[in-house]
Amino acid sequence: MSHVIVIGSGIGSLASALRLRAKGHKVKVIEANEKVGGKLDVHRSMGYRWDTGPSLFTMPHFVDELFKLFNENPREHFNYQKQPIVCNYFWEDGTRFSSNAQTEKFCEDAAKTFNEPKQKIADYLAKSALKYDLTASLFLEKSLHKFSTYTSIQAAKSVLKMGKLDIPSTLNEVNEASFSNPNLIQLFNRFATYNGSSPYKTPGIMSMIPTLEMQFGTFYPQGGMRSIVESLHALGERNGVEFFFNEKATSIDYSKGKITGVTTEKGFYNAEIVVSGIDAFYTYTSLLPKLKAPTKTLGQEKSSSAIIFYWGVKKSFPELDLHNIFFSENYREEFDAIFNQKKRSKDSTIYLNISSKADSNDAPQKCENWFVMINVPTNEGQNWKQLVAEAKTQIIEKLSRSLNINLNELIESEEVLDPVKIELKTSSHQGSLYGSASNSKFSAFLRHPNFSNQIKGLYFCGGSVHPGGGIPLCLKSGQIVADLIPEA
Ligand SMILES: Cc1cc2nc3c(=O)[nH]c(=O)nc-3n(C[C@H](O)[C@H](O)[C@H](O)COP(=O)(O)OP(=O)(O)OC[C@H]3O[C@@H](n4cnc5c(N)ncnc54)[C@H](O)[C@@H]3O)c2cc1C
Repeated sequence: MSHVIVIGSGIGSLASALRLRAKGHKVKVIEANEKVGGKLDVHRSMGYRWDTGPSLFTMPHFVDELFKLFNENPREHFNYQKQPIVCNYFWEDGTRFSSNAQTEKFCEDAAKTFNEPKQKIADYLAKSALKYDLTASLFLEKSLHKFSTYTSIQAAKSVLKMGKLDIPSTLNEVNEASFSNPNLIQLFNRFATYNGSSPYKTPGIMSMIPTLEMQFGTFYPQGGMRSIVESLHALGERNGVEFFFNEKATSIDYSKGKITGVTTEKGFYNAEIVVSGIDAFYTYTSLLPKLKAPTKTLGQEKSSSAIIFYWGVKKSFPELDLHNIFFSENYREEFDAIFNQKKRSKDSTIYLNISSKADSNDAPQKCENWFVMINVPTNEGQNWKQLVAEAKTQIIEKLSRSLNINLNELIESEEVLDPVKIELKTSSHQGSLYGSASNSKFSAFLRHPNFSNQIKGLYFCGGSVHPGGGIPLCLKSGQIVADLIPEA
């Protein structure tokens, strides 16, 4: 049995902690905040409740797996419902499209709305599923920095079918080659934002992402997104993981190339294994200042960040669903602003999430809890006060126009998050939502590995390292770490 310290209690850390505990190790989780969950936080005001971070839940079986490790029935502790409608889309030209969770119905509806042959859409989704099947277990479930990964049967299969993966093209090029309707191309280009990237840069292999929505489905957890981390925290407590809150780690300690423990603001904990679940940039700069940092890896382009308004809206809207997107008129200009000019686009696409559609307890009667998000660059010293004010004006105008309302008159509660606040709350370098962007064909290989080459016993999980950001991938990072560490 080894003593393991997991630093941070984001979703990746929780997965590592639970998996290592299930392998028989003695596990302590050290968290700087007063509660678990990192980006999966919650805000309440005037009878409204908002999940402040992630709102889209896919691959819920990755969470279930953690309960099963302890022979617990996940359904006794954590529940979720599949959503019949994945997302409602709105365009400025008046087009509206409700994306049905059933593939057959999606293809039928999309063919009618976008005037594209149904078979073409079905073929695109079938290719998307094939790309996922060929690569998921290789890229998402294993370390890309271990030789054994490349000698597996799965690796051989992927190499043989390399041509089908669309790696040399961009996502936009794949979508433009597949469809002629610009709105449908924009709909499929949107999947680049799943990991905070640009469809004009991210490789075509990202066209596998619709599979997550279409083949596996989108879900809403009972009690909201926050219930994911709360149920995993409770699972850990029931099974002997020790949690320490309001305790910031200040250094990772080692001697002769081997981990010795972790020092926090309150004291020293000895350990043979340390898993850092915080942003890799801060792991090196704050906790390992004397160690040579992998500057190329840490200096990679970051994923996008966001400005988010949490609005209590005193009206309900039957035309809206749990997830809604109001597209910009010029998507290329929008991503150019975010990734090249490091500015807010003047016509940002708006993502509107309303969890009270799934759980009426999240808002007072006849009201809705709006989570209104636009993608913006990471913090490089821009004037965020001004950008937030400009974003608010643009969003209110666009939503008022699209929904034929005066939104200003309907907002009765407001809270705002921007890249600076995201970094302050979760130590995410420059406020990026998903660690580094996937804006190049090599991004997957350039992410920080899940282990240290320099210190024996040091491991990494969470959104800033392999396989990347987002709840499902962070959960997988925890699994990869645990797979690298032998049973106690
Ligand atoms: C606004 C927003 C929307 C998003 N939307 C989605 C979505 O819809 N779907 C999706 O799947 N993903 C989404 N994401 C991404 C997802 O939230 C993240 O990829 C994921 O939650 C990151 O988890 P993590 O394990 O890296 O830890 P984090 O959540 O980053 O948590 C890190 C933890 O470490 C703690 N910590 C930091 N430094 C120290 C220290 N020195 N000592 C102790 N503790 C420390 C922090 O307090 C924090 O609790 C979104 C993110 C944001 C911000």
